[in-house]
Amino acid sequence: MLTTNPFDVSQDGDTLHEECGIFGISGAADAARLVALGLHALQHRGQEAAGITSFDGTEFHTHRAMGHVAGNFDREEVMVPLRGSVACGHVRYSTTGETALRNVQPLYADLASGGFAIAHNGNISNAMRLRRDLVRRGSIFQSTSDTETIIHLVATSNYRTVVDKFIDALKRVEGAYSLIVMTPEGMIACRDPLGIRPLVMGKIEQSDGSEAVIFASETVALDVVGATFVRSIEPGELVMVKGSEITSHSPFAPVAPRPCIFEFVYFSRPDSISEDRSVYTVRKAIGAQLAIESPVEADLVIPVPDSGTPAALGYAQESGIPFELGIIRSHYVGRTFIQPGDKVRHLGVKLKHNANRALIKGKRVVLIDDSIVRGTTSLKIVEMMREAVAAEVHMRIASPPTRHSCFYGVDTPERAKLLAATKNLEEMATYIKADSLAFISIDGLYKALGEPQRNAIRPSHCDACFTGDYPTTLTDQDDVSSVDQFALLAERMI
Ligand code: SF4
Repeated sequence: MLTTNPFDVSQDGDTLHEECGIFGISGAADAARLVALGLHALQHRGQEAAGITSFDGTEFHTHRAMGHVAGNFDREEVMVPLRGSVACGHVRYSTTGETALRNVQPLYADLASGGFAIAHNGNISNAMRLRRDLVRRGSIFQSTSDTETIIHLVATSNYRTVVDKFIDALKRVEGAYSLIVMTPEGMIACRDPLGIRPLVMGKIEQSDGSEAVIFASETVALDVVGATFVRSIEPGELVMVKGSEITSHSPFAPVAPRPCIFEFVYFSRPDSISEDRSVYTVRKAIGAQLAIESPVEADLVIPVPDSGTPAALGYAQESGIPFELGIIRSHYVGRTFIQPGDKVRHLGVKLKHNANRALIKGKRVVLIDDSIVRGTTSLKIVEMMREAVAAEVHMRIASPPTRHSCFYGVDTPERAKLLAATKNLEEMATYIKADSLAFISIDGLYKALGEPQRNAIRPSHCDACFTGDYPTTLTDQDDVSSVDQFALLAERMI
């Protein structure tokens, strides 16, 4: 269970928090150092903790730490012991399991078949039920992470080879998973059958002419280590790397993929390429579509930094209203800088975001943000514009209203705490004190992705946090699932 530090101005409890990022490399001298660089490029996906495991042909070596990659994995005393030409790593935002070092990944276990390290982006949505069954049968869990269930399912599988044990385990889990696994036999990368979470493959040439294989959550991590993008791992695909041999397996019955649409709205870095599309270009198209759907007379288009910036550029270009940086974000706000005390805590918000007062005074502004979760940040930002004497404050959101929780590895609050789950548009505008508020439509979001509209029968993406149309069964959430599915059916009947 997550807790939010009230004095932590880097976590105001009102954003959809990043999920996790994974990076693995096989066949590179100093593999762990490249993993550290790759994780650094994926830091936006999880800032709570990081870990790297390497394999030197005989032994596995692991270092896991709370905090950022920089400050942990740039220290020689940490990096020197991470020997070997195979390594994988993980940056974490805790979505399941308490915030503790024992939950930091890669998780590692000594199995009968040898060492087994695993890095996971996603969430196993039947982990609680699987865990109960495993514990009843004698498994002893070391962490509270959903990922550990996979290790125990592998350990207790009756199949002979580690790959078959792993496939056997995956066939029993529900939910979202992009995984990188290391065993003495080699590295395995795989994506769940729906491909909810991303995973790409790249290569990097070594000084001896050989090629190391890389797996990463986003292409930006390949860019940073100087690797070439090869392809995405297909939904339901499992790729095994043994030395220079790469084999692809498709152990699951094929289903229509449903990758997470929120990667385009918020999670992925704008300089990443996802599903053959530039994330930056899609975000600008979302902003342009928003301007078409919800125009407003105004003097300035202002992004809520940083994630609202490309959409704000798209809105400005489509509407012809000038784009200006009316909110300046400090990049130097630490997690524990602010001391207790109401007055100081309030000032902490301004440490992170501050109005560019000279620009705002007397102007009608359109603020562009990626999403509204609880509404508390939007309220603070609108109030900040009012204090800077804006003539009018309009809010435009580059995603549809977030009405449902995510069970696929993204930290959303329970439904009752989502502003859009309990209020209509007018009530939300009143709550955040905006002169007007509008969200992009779900069809508009799909238009920005190049589709004519959302295909209601067979949507191309997971969009459950907007529609409640969860693409998997949610065994651990039976109550929530039945309520949401009922609501969805009711909506469809209308
Ligand atoms: Fe992404 Fe939303 Fe689906 Fe979660 S519910 S995977 S955030 S689209």
